[in-house]
Amino acid sequence: MPKIYFIDVTNRDGVQTAKLGLSKMEKTLMNLYLNEMGVFQSEFGFPVTRHETLYLQANLELAQMGVLQPIRLEGWIRAITSDVETAFRLVPDIKHLNISISTSFQMINRKFQGRKQQEDIIHDMTEALDAAKALGAKTVGVNAEDASRTDITFLTRFGLAAREHGADRLRYCDTLGYDNPFTIYETVRNLAENTGLPLEIHCHGDLGMAVANSLAGAKGTIDGGQDVYINTTVNGIGERAGNADLVAVVLALIKSKQFADKYQLGQPIDLSKSFGIAKFASYAFGLPIPINQPGVGANAFAHSSGIHADGVLKDPENYELYGFEELGRGDPVMVETGREIIAGQYSGISGFSHLMGRMEVQFSSREEAAEILELVRYANVEAQKPLVEDELLFIAKYPKIAKKLLTLTPLE
Ligand SMILES: [Zn+2]
Repeated sequence: MPKIYFIDVTNRDGVQTAKLGLSKMEKTLMNLYLNEMGVFQSEFGFPVTRHETLYLQANLELAQMGVLQPIRLEGWIRAITSDVETAFRLVPDIKHLNISISTSFQMINRKFQGRKQQEDIIHDMTEALDAAKALGAKTVGVNAEDASRTDITFLTRFGLAAREHGADRLRYCDTLGYDNPFTIYETVRNLAENTGLPLEIHCHGDLGMAVANSLAGAKGTIDGGQDVYINTTVNGIGERAGNADLVAVVLALIKSKQFADKYQLGQPIDLSKSFGIAKFASYAFGLPIPINQPGVGANAFAHSSGIHADGVLKDPENYELYGFEELGRGDPVMVETGREIIAGQYSGISGFSHLMGRMEVQFSSREEAAEILELVRYANVEAQKPLVEDELLFIAKYPKIAKKLLTLTPLE
């Protein structure tokens, strides 16, 4: 029986959201949290974007060190040969790529404006795919942008050409959130059966159905005989109305009526990391979690009406589908209400040593403390908000990697 995996795209689709972004340190922490949670792959950035180069290299180093393992780190590029070549020139150790090109009539005619025909789309994609494999890519996913508005006959031909040239997966992008659970089920089942490729399901929330469509897409792909890789973002942050929310999709897969009887995860997800990763994304993006967000919202386990409160106190299962502890909630939160020492871009050694001492980090010398403090100052310059504990601990533990992440010299 084929299985369900997760490819999280917070560090790609999430950060290209208008008005939002993450620092390189925050993107790195996101990869670490996704890895701890059991996510199969992180789409960790843009290998042809020069300001990402050192961040991508540093994260690949963390993978080599065994810190970012077993998660796969994969970069997103356009499906054109020059992008593939640039990606390998800037980030030679990159092993996993997704290459993207528009496939719909709308995009071919109205975006490329007659410069490309369907045959050119297949040609560009296969040429880029060949180049990626020749340059050493271990896996390549091929993204059909606007797949949900693409004629199924052409989409199948596109998928078959990708498979013939060694693609590992085909990404079905519902770029505009146009599908509904019934249409996506039929389309991807057909696509899985007729291309013989594992599929990625990439859904957006323009009609409020990103999570439902992800579930239906997973079912369709598995019924079509292939493994499925659901694309998610943390807190559903993504372009326009956003992407499928990671935690909500996991909950839907494992908690919704009868779904998990037949459709199962390919590797375990540690649900208890949900609250932590959602809180971090909220802080890093500077975006509150909606109070009615599944599982992690402030009201997800709140009861006030008499009948519900009475019922849930007698037996939580009367009014709760799953327990808050499962999502890593319920621990008391320490909030400083008195004097507070914060590490910032103008911090000095004494306050900093005090702060790190409270986290039980001891420095071997004043020089070492000064070196870490300097990195912390730079991290603050980039983030423009106080660092979270895990960021401070990361810098103290991996100063060389941190230095790389914080180097943003415009390249020649
Ligand atoms: Zn997208």
